[in-house]
Amino acid sequence: MNGDLLIRNIGTLATLRGPVPRVGAAMADPGLVASAALVARGGRIVFAGPERELPPELAAASDVPVLDAAGAAVLPGLVDAHTHLAFAGDRDDELRERLAGASYAEIATRGGGILKTVAATRAAGREALAALVSARLEAMLLCGTTTAEVKSGYGLDVASEIRSLEAIAQAAAAHPVTVVPTFLGAHEIPAERRADRNAYVRELVDEMIPAVAARGLAEFADVFCETGVFTPAETREILGAAAAHGLGLRVHADELGASGGALVAAELRARSADHLIHATAETIAALAGAGTVATLCPAAAFYLRLGRYAPARALVEAGVPVAIATDVNPGGGLSPSIPFAMTIACFGMGLSLEEAIAAATINGAYSVARQAEAGSLEPGKRADAVVLRSPRLLDLLRVGVPAIACVVKDGRVVVRDGRRV
Ligand SMILES: [Zn+2]
Repeated sequence: MNGDLLIRNIGTLATLRGPVPRVGAAMADPGLVASAALVARGGRIVFAGPERELPPELAAASDVPVLDAAGAAVLPGLVDAHTHLAFAGDRDDELRERLAGASYAEIATRGGGILKTVAATRAAGREALAALVSARLEAMLLCGTTTAEVKSGYGLDVASEIRSLEAIAQAAAAHPVTVVPTFLGAHEIPAERRADRNAYVRELVDEMIPAVAARGLAEFADVFCETGVFTPAETREILGAAAAHGLGLRVHADELGASGGALVAAELRARSADHLIHATAETIAALAGAGTVATLCPAAAFYLRLGRYAPARALVEAGVPVAIATDVNPGGGLSPSIPFAMTIACFGMGLSLEEAIAAATINGAYSVARQAEAGSLEPGKRADAVVLRSPRLLDLLRVGVPAIACVVKDGRVVVRDGRRV
């Protein structure tokens, strides 16, 4: 049957079983099982544990494909909880400017940045946009990602935002990666609305959010709360409307400065506050009290040359659930690789390998409300797994080493030796 699989001879199985989300010291426990096996039936896990405890009827099913892990490590399929895949064009010229010393804010002020991508994305048809989203999902899957949040946010008018979300849905329907769509009409004020920004906020609240919710095109709404973009008061108003329409809440918060976004996220009990590079002791305490996930995007801070990272250790120690995402986008999210984001999370932000794994699996799943389906290897969940080439989970952090042997999605091997199968 499709989605039936036996993975045996697993040297180390990182199950990530246990409490969800992972907070504090529990983030350091990946639930390791030595000499393990994993069995899928119909795309769902039915067994994940010591191979010697494998029930004979599961071990002996002759018509089930067998994947021999050859003593290597296996972990849950990675969850990327923050991406902007629905864009056309590129910003390669700006990347060169940034390498020459220009800041994100300088480039945005002269009409570059998000607004440049908005022009290209508005000009793209739905089919073309869907193909671009699909190609980006493909690159992520090769890096071990099996579940991804994908935002709109380069349309910035009713028709273009809906077209972006439809393109995301079209790509998702034809691709193995599980996609969680987010409406990000509040990514920027479009150029033609800058003379009356309040009118754009009204359009978001009165037209876009109801239209998106009525079509079932998004599960979450997100706002870029930042100086020069949306204020905390506007963020509160936009997300209030989103909540009233049944959408979950996310906030781009405190990325370029202490914008107040994280405090709004905590006040509204948003599911996730993202970036948090300028989080303070006050905001960290507020997030901990609200149970809001800190979805950190260290590779974006790296590529934007911000010179600092989110205070990940303080967030973990305060009991905030920490997730790690790539922030794939044309300006600052240049890598589709969660292992690369994990590498910076460890060596730039001071997480341990085990904390980074929890952040990229079970806490990522919690960030996008998929904790019942993904993020750990436990019976009942989707059989999404990454099989490494060696017993060493640490190999994930050796950038350039092809650490991943196979990616399994819904009980099927979809990547083998770096290639789609
Ligand atoms: Zn983002």
